[in-house]
Amino acid sequence: MNLCSLVAGQPVTGAGSLAVRNPYNGAPVGSVAVASRADVQAAVAAARGFRDTPSRHTRSRILGTAAEALEQAREDFARLITQEAGLALRETRYEVGRTLDVLRFAALEALRDDGQVFACDVSPLGKARKIFTTREPLRCVAAITPFNHPLNQVAHKVAPAIAAGTPLLLKPSEKTPLVALKFAGLLSAAGLPGPMLSVLLGPTAEVAETLVTHPDIEALAFTGSVAVGKRIAATAGYKRLVLELGGNDPLIVLDDAELELAVTLAAEGSYRNSGQRCTAVKRILVQDGIAPEFTRRLVQRTREYVCGDPMDEATRVGTVIDEASALQLEQVVQEAVAAGAKVLTGGRRHGALLEPTVMGDVPRDCRMVVSESFGPLAPILTVRDLDDAIALANGTPYGLSSGVVTTNLSHALKAVRALRCGTVNINEVPGFRVENSPFGGIQDSGLGIKEGVIEAVKAYSYVKTFSLPW
Ligand code: NAP
Repeated sequence: MNLCSLVAGQPVTGAGSLAVRNPYNGAPVGSVAVASRADVQAAVAAARGFRDTPSRHTRSRILGTAAEALEQAREDFARLITQEAGLALRETRYEVGRTLDVLRFAALEALRDDGQVFACDVSPLGKARKIFTTREPLRCVAAITPFNHPLNQVAHKVAPAIAAGTPLLLKPSEKTPLVALKFAGLLSAAGLPGPMLSVLLGPTAEVAETLVTHPDIEALAFTGSVAVGKRIAATAGYKRLVLELGGNDPLIVLDDAELELAVTLAAEGSYRNSGQRCTAVKRILVQDGIAPEFTRRLVQRTREYVCGDPMDEATRVGTVIDEASALQLEQVVQEAVAAGAKVLTGGRRHGALLEPTVMGDVPRDCRMVVSESFGPLAPILTVRDLDDAIALANGTPYGLSSGVVTTNLSHALKAVRALRCGTVNINEVPGFRVENSPFGGIQDSGLGIKEGVIEAVKAYSYVKTFSLPW
């Protein structure tokens, strides 16, 4: 599949190309013609010059038509993600389903008028007037997305921008560009005007950094690592920033937990999407009383997660994004072992495949649990009680999400209040959400400005107030 970067919906040619290879077997998947700095400038100019904002009805129709087309092409999209990213088909089919939700929620949101009316005779200083609010599109926003949910991350930027009527310039991950461009093609076929979406791949200095620092871009939405997010915060200048960064999410399992549920949540939270979710379970904090039995059952459950060819229907854990990432994870495991941890199952690497791995006796200060380990690792740490678990959970710079497994409502409420992060899910994985609920982290995980379809529409628009004399 050979595709081109898109400037205002039109393919660019001539500035070189980017090859995409399958992380599982190295086979070529396709290539993308890359954009230059001049192409970025042209895309910004086209977006800023665009005045024919489609009506709410038309925006909703475009999103709805795109959802119908994606429904028809579900399997093609899932297979393309599997080829580009090495994720098992179970995961990529699920991702396409989530993207359908994003499109459908955005189609609804395009129709919603959230304007308000304020009476002005409510104060001795007031008057017999009324203030009204109306939501206006921004002229031009940019979005930069990561590799780990290469379709859904893109949809979470593009669909709310369409709902808001705001032109968007997208820079997808260079590791997974094909699915982003295929998705753009689907939107174009659904009637999206060209200037409302450019998709730009190319060298970081020419494309991503030009977008980040461009004075004519009014808002920038970035999802990716903490390091790049902080660099963007330092260089973006005067523009609205939505930063969705890394996570180090705990799953707290208390003595009163329903054990089988806890084991299921730990395994699914740690291994789904090859452990490459910002909200994957990165640390399992288990109260001492049930730790031995929980560990025994998690090891047993982990052995059911077949790791191998992502295209094989039996596979539940495919590759991580590339061999370099798998090697780095292997090193993180070795470091933990050198510090006293034990590999209880898994731990072997074959190219970009890393077996789902349960680690026991993990010291609290080793890299595996202090930093984000973006892969199918399940490190178990024991805790004395809920207070100890909360202190440990809050003990890293991250603050994205969390899960707590308990049957005690007081414990649940205490955890909701005390955990310093964007989400607390009781008896669920940290990653649980629906696509229109507010989502996002604090501290190193983000600035606390939420995404999710409804919040993102707000991020890509602004509220104008006007008043009338009655
Ligand atoms: P990454 O290395 O930070 O890359 C993310 C995007 O930023 C890519 O498109 C990348 O382009 C681009 N980029 C690289 N250098 C840049 C620069 N100097 N200026 C502007 N953009 C630049 O992240 P990743 O490895 O793809 O994704 C994994 C990370 O994303 C994890 O930390 C994960 O937790 C996080 N994540 C967070 C959320 C959330 O909602 N909080 C969701 C998903 C993932 P290239 O591909 O060209 O390098």
